[in-house]
Amino acid sequence: MRPIQMVDTKNQYLKIKTEVDSAIHEVLDSAAYINGKPVQDFTQSLNQYIGAKYTVTCANGTDALQIAMMALDLQPGDEVITPSFTYIATTEVVALLRLKPVFVEVDTQTFCMDIDALKKAITPKTKAIVPVHLYGHAANMDAIMQVAAAHNLYVIEDNAQAIGANYTFSDGTVKKTGSIGHIGCTSFYPSKNLGAYGDGGAIFTNDEALATKMKMIANHGQQKRYYHEMVGCNSRLDSIQAAVLNIKLQHLDSYILARQSAADFYNKAFAQHPAIAVPHVADYSSHVYHQYTLILSGVNRDALSAYLAEKKIPSMIYYPVPGHKQAMFASLGTPVHLATTDWLTERVISLPMHTELDADQLSYITENVLAFINQ
Ligand SMILES: *Cc1c(COP(=O)(O)O)cnc(C)c1O
Repeated sequence: MRPIQMVDTKNQYLKIKTEVDSAIHEVLDSAAYINGKPVQDFTQSLNQYIGAKYTVTCANGTDALQIAMMALDLQPGDEVITPSFTYIATTEVVALLRLKPVFVEVDTQTFCMDIDALKKAITPKTKAIVPVHLYGHAANMDAIMQVAAAHNLYVIEDNAQAIGANYTFSDGTVKKTGSIGHIGCTSFYPSKNLGAYGDGGAIFTNDEALATKMKMIANHGQQKRYYHEMVGCNSRLDSIQAAVLNIKLQHLDSYILARQSAADFYNKAFAQHPAIAVPHVADYSSHVYHQYTLILSGVNRDALSAYLAEKKIPSMIYYPVPGHKQAMFASLGTPVHLATTDWLTERVISLPMHTELDADQLSYITENVLAFINQ
């Protein structure tokens, strides 16, 4: 059996090596390392894939979120509602811009923003909602967009883990996650479902004025070179990463199918076990399995991880410390109590999930997980 990795970007690369290597060499030969043709081509293809009107590429997913929030003219002290149960980037940029992150609970089935908690968190200072499509499953966007419309709030989707996921609205309309809110953000960090071989990010919107503004912000606040209309930043997707992403975007749907088939294998092995809750898939979302995450009950999680590690099976806790307990937010004042988030944080475990898992590896993983839990 091949060694098992949490994420296997190397073997995925080997399958497209010829194409990728020649695309990279084309960029080297062109010497257009910044904003070369691959960047324009990728921006266009991605825009079409997501089904947004406008796509702005940038340096990484964290910048995408920051540029989105800068474009909305939020003022220091304005409140931004986000889940605590997410990667730190989502909430860090809120604080970086001197806005106030307001942490809310997630739903225990989808790991995404809880709608009642969202409604209760709204105050006169609330300006935006940042739902996170965690692990590759969409948040309840019907409800979130309704709440946002009722209170005149912006919605910025953090789509870093869910690129390619389909959201089905209650009227039957289907859209890609990232194209639903006022702005959608994503990341091309190598381990993401559409991963570059370095950093990268993108922002989506259907609003022309916002698109123009975000493009300017990502480029030192200029439209015309050396004429800077607003304070921006320097955030670019480089040509080599765009060339790689152009190729990988063509494979994204088959990568998603490979992840879904690995998840099916895991589900079959675990679904009936009373100590294991397998990932739930809501009617409104497809699941693109950025992570395959279980909720354990009555299982010593540390001992399970150690047992798996001994068998050379990696596993991870995403994330060991939720936002509301991070030291970086200590200065926000009043401590927040999020019982559901704490409960999940103690019980989740993510198993290896990527496009290169084969049946031997999956059998070996499931057998060992069950052997430990049933002992
Ligand atoms: C990866 C990730 C980001 C940040 O993306 P980077 O490209 O690493 O900056 C933001 N939010 C979530 C949920 C992520 O998983």
